[in-house]
Amino acid sequence: MTPPPRRIAVVGGGVSGLAAAVALARRATLDQTAVELTVLEADHRLGGRVLGGELAGAMIDLGPESILAREADTWTLLKDLGVEAKVVRPGTTSASIWNGRRLVAIPRGFPLSVPAQMTWSWRWDVVRAIGPLPALRAGLEPWLKGPVPSPDQALGPFISARLGRSVLRGLVDPLLGGIYAGSADQLSIGAVAPQLLQALRLDPSLLRGLRRMSSPTPPTAGAPPSPFITLRGGLSTLVEALAAALPAHAAKLGAQVSAIEAGPGGTCRLRVEGQPPLEVDGVVLALPAPHAA
Ligand SMILES: Cc1cc2nc3c(=O)[nH]c(=O)nc-3n(C[C@H](O)[C@H](O)[C@H](O)COP(=O)(O)OP(=O)(O)OC[C@H]3O[C@@H](n4cnc5c(N)ncnc54)[C@H](O)[C@@H]3O)c2cc1C
Repeated sequence: MTPPPRRIAVVGGGVSGLAAAVALARRATLDQTAVELTVLEADHRLGGRVLGGELAGAMIDLGPESILAREADTWTLLKDLGVEAKVVRPGTTSASIWNGRRLVAIPRGFPLSVPAQMTWSWRWDVVRAIGPLPALRAGLEPWLKGPVPSPDQALGPFISARLGRSVLRGLVDPLLGGIYAGSADQLSIGAVAPQLLQALRLDPSLLRGLRRMSSPTPPTAGAPPSPFITLRGGLSTLVEALAAALPAHAAKLGAQVSAIEAGPGGTCRLRVEGQPPLEVDGVVLALPAPHAA
């Protein structure tokens, strides 16, 4: 006898929920198991923070606009969704930091603006960004070194101790703030800068370790390859591709989950505002933490 399908509810139809639902559907196909997926989204559209709009006839992103290209999983997902050919890299300009007086170009080529290169043009970039003495202080790191941090340690104090406060406040923090909307003092190294831990495995000095890593690209003339990618049509293209990869009728819009209770026989019962409760065998919560709490 064929076992009944496992009923899985994904709560939240942002990119996380959609990607989770697509991954579950793919896994079930590979394992030849039957899964009944339901994506419950409170809003009347999918995508969550990802939202496209139009300005003067051009498509623009009104929220997130790019994806960090270094994650292998990102490329696997884009390929699986068939949108790899739509990938574009912003390559016309480099990001700048406002140092209180003027815009200075972020030194390019190494993770999180950590100034690890030794070429004169690179050093000049760093001097322009944070000033000569702080740049000199950063350059002393191979001799000063310091303890190897754990992945859960905050990035801010680590950068400050290794390279000086100016590198943290003038280079690393502004870049991180732009990406994670948070301070380096509250973001863990393992989560936002795993490359730095990798570098420390190669050499006790962070700067020497970064130089020895094969992935960094040295600064080149002209526009450097951006570490960010997006898709033609903006990130809504990703949402559309994820939605298209869902099993038919899996997405339920206007379905706000207000409670999750234990049901009979190890099942879960989801209360959905204005709708009958939904009994499932498993739940994926793909919500921002305050909504999930
Ligand atoms: C202005 C801005 C710019 C950003 N730029 C970038 C960027 O360029 N690159 C990048 O990688 N990241 C960026 N981010 C971060 C990125 O947007 C988020 O990390 C990502 O969109 C989160 O997706 P998510 O699916 O986890 O959550 P969300 O997008 O928040 O989706 C959660 C979904 O759950 C739904 N929901 C909430 N409560 C319930 C409930 N009770 N029942 C049912 N559904 C519910 C919501 O309606 C929503 O659709 C940016 C964020 C902001 C705000």
